[in-house]
Order: sequence, then structure tokens, then C-alpha cells
Amino acid sequence: MSLSLLLRLAWRQSLIRLLLFYALALAVGLALDEPWWALGLATAVVALRAYWRLYRVLRFLDWRKQLQTVDGQGLWAALETLIHRRQTENRARTRRLVRLLRAYRQAATAMPDGALIVNRHDGRLVWFNKTARHLLGLRYPQSLDTPLAEVFEGQPRVRDWFAAGITDEPLTDLPSPAEPMARLSLRLIPYSPTQWLVVVRDVTKLMRLEQVRRDFVANVSHELRTPLTVVHGYLDMIEPDEHPELAHMVEEMRRQSQRMTQLVEDLLTLSRLEAQESLPEEPLAMAPMLVTLRREAEALSQGRHQVLVEDRAGVDLTGSTKELHSAFSNLVSNAVRYTPTGGRILIRFERSADGGARLAVQDSGYGIPAQHLPRITERFYRVSTSRSRESGGTGLGLSIVKHVLSLHQARLEIESEVGRGSTFACAFGPARVRQRETAEAGAGGSVD
Ligand code: ADP
Repeated sequence: MSLSLLLRLAWRQSLIRLLLFYALALAVGLALDEPWWALGLATAVVALRAYWRLYRVLRFLDWRKQLQTVDGQGLWAALETLIHRRQTENRARTRRLVRLLRAYRQAATAMPDGALIVNRHDGRLVWFNKTARHLLGLRYPQSLDTPLAEVFEGQPRVRDWFAAGITDEPLTDLPSPAEPMARLSLRLIPYSPTQWLVVVRDVTKLMRLEQVRRDFVANVSHELRTPLTVVHGYLDMIEPDEHPELAHMVEEMRRQSQRMTQLVEDLLTLSRLEAQESLPEEPLAMAPMLVTLRREAEALSQGRHQVLVEDRAGVDLTGSTKELHSAFSNLVSNAVRYTPTGGRILIRFERSADGGARLAVQDSGYGIPAQHLPRITERFYRVSTSRSRESGGTGLGLSIVKHVLSLHQARLEIESEVGRGSTFACAFGPARVRQRETAEAGAGGSVD
């Protein structure tokens, strides 16, 4: 029966019954010659009955028990029917929600990755699945409420990573607290303002494969060094004047063996950088560094380009002098190699808006088509293989730059327009900036 019809019927029934009851009471009262008493008694009966039904309804609502029977007809019965319907609907909804929740939990528990729900404000564990228990050596329920940093005791990286809320990059290569030989990666997923999901993945095999790859490249490069030195040595012993018919061949062989040597050296540099977790934290004086970079650019350019240096930052950096020099040199060398004669190369050191500093190498060269930019720092990725080879490139320069910068928590920013030139900038955070101690401190200006 529809609700409105039920209510309409109930109203009508109630009213008719009430009127009949009072009519009967009045008739009995008149018969007994006490009509007022009879009406008063009838009112008391009506009130008592109303209280009793109200008590019944309240009791069911209060005890959260389901109303099983609906008594009689009329308004009170309609109210009970309504409550009964709502209760039945609510129970069905709750059952559905519980089933859904259970299914989610089962799915999360069965996940091959570890899942932890962590309080955002204090980093304490709220829930974790079975895989997380195995991977992290947690125990249920004892480990609940333990701070994540405590689970990874001795790994301050985890605390810093969680506090910084780094969600775009996973934290990789962490030793597992349960099994030191196992390697884990953590990913942060902020799914609500108060609780975050931490996904733990066992990357031991992946790391081992990566190590095998690194070792292989490093070993091959290392093994190639000696034969190359021998070939070099013999080639140097051949005098082109004595064998003019071989001169062209020997020249080409020399060039190729030099290229191979450069390739081997770059591969070894990359392997060394990959194996390193951090670099020495030395003060790096930028004024002499800019002078060196300018000298290198001029030597490579042989007067074919205009080289300008601007030192506007008036600060120095902290980091590994050797590695940063190699990164900056790579950018300068690229700018010279990919800029035609008559072009302009500007090396600019400036402060950035976030309080950090940036070394930008700008050229007026060939430029790079936009579709190549996302892959430009991959090993051996070249926009034009022939141009790279002609200019003596190995295709590893920008990979080395990227590695060196990431070891300094810095970024490589690239802007380029075909035919107009490119700007490669190394952006360092404020933590890498240090006050310049020399007399030129804060001078700023041009060194060209
Ligand atoms: P390579 O040794 O080939 O120069 P890099 O890793 O240094 O290798 O650079 C990768 C590719 O990026 C180069 O082959 C070149 O196509 C492009 N590139 C790098 N720097 C510049 C630049 N300043 N102008 C134009 N193209 C560049």
C-alpha cells in the first residue's frame, strides 16, 4: 500500500473511531445521568492509550530493536508501519554496506602489495594487510598505532618522505625491517585529508636485475678500456707520412677509437653515479667555476661563437665540485656543439624565485623539436644521430647531467625552440645555496 493512502486511511479510521468512542461514552453517560463524568473518563482512556502506544514506539526506537508486529489500525499503527519500513530499509542498507566493506577489505588483504592506512598528522598505523605484515614484520593488533617512522627505524629517509608528503615519486630501495636482504619501495596515496594509504612493494628482484645490469655495463666498459688503450697506442705509432696510402684510414681509426674511449668513459661515469647514494658536500665557489666554463666553451668553440657569462646570483653552491663541473661542462659543450658558427652562448648564474639558484646555459643553436624533449635525457637518445656523432657526442651527456643533479636534489629544466635555440638550466633548491665569502660577494653582474 502506498504511504499517502495508508496515512489518509489511518487518519479517517482514527477520527471515526474516536468520534464513535466519544458518542458511546456520551450515550452511556446520558443513560447513567452523568454525561460529564462519562466524557472525562473517555478522555482519560484515550490519553492512557496514547501514552501506552507512544511508550511502545519509543521503546523500540531506543532499544534499536526491530519492530516486529504492528498492532491494530489507525494513526499509531500507521506510525509503527512507517517505523517498521524505515528500519527494514536501514537494515538492508547496512547489510549491503557491511558486505561492500568486507569485500573491499578482502580485496585489500589479498593484494600482492602491502597496504597500510596511516594517520596523516602523526604517521601512526590505522590498518595494514597481510602482505604488509610479512614485508614489514608487523603483528596484528600489537603494531596498530605504531608510527611509520618507528616501523622503519634507522631509515630517516622514510620519516622525511612521509613528512614532506611526496606523492609523485615512490621511495625505493629501502631495506625491509623484517628481512634486511629484501628491498622495498613505498608509494604514498593521499585518499582522505586525515588518512593516507602507503603501498609497499617488494622490489628485491627488480633491484637485483638493475644491479646485474649496472654491473654488466660497468664491467664491459672496464674490460674495454685496456684493449682500447692498446689500439690507441699502436695507432699513435703509425706515422701517416711513412704510409701515405694508409693516412686516411689511420685518421678514421683514430677518430673512432677516440669515440669509443669517450663512450667507455661516459658509461663508467654513469655507473659510478648510479652506484652512489650521495656525493660530498663541499663549498663550490661559482665565480671561478664560471670562469672555467667560459674558458672551456671558448676552447671548444675555437672562436666560432660569442661566449657570454653573467653572474647575477652573488651566491655559491654546496655540492660535489667535480661532478657539478662535469654536469655544467656537458651543457656548455652541448651548447657549442649544437650551435652553428656565428651563434651566441650565454652562461648565466642567477637566483630563482624559491630562494634557490639556477645555472642556465642558453644558446642560439638548432633547437630541439618539442616531441623529443620528454626523452632527451635518456641514455643514447639523440634528436639527430648524425649531428651528435659528427660533433663527437656519445648520447650520454644529458643522462650524466640528470644523475648528477638528482644527487644534488636539483632539476634539469629545458626550454627549446627549433631554429631559435635552447636553454638548459640546473635548478638548485635553497638548501644548496650558500653565502659567497669572497670580496665580490653580492656584486652580481657580467663577467664577459
Ligand atoms: P650527445 O652526446 O649526443 O650530445 P647528450 O645526452 O648530451 O648526447 O644530448 C642528447 C641529445 O640532445 C643530443 O644528441 C642532441 O640531439 C640534443 N641536444 C642536447 N643539447 C642540445 C642543445 N644545446 N641544442 C640542441 N640539441 C641539443
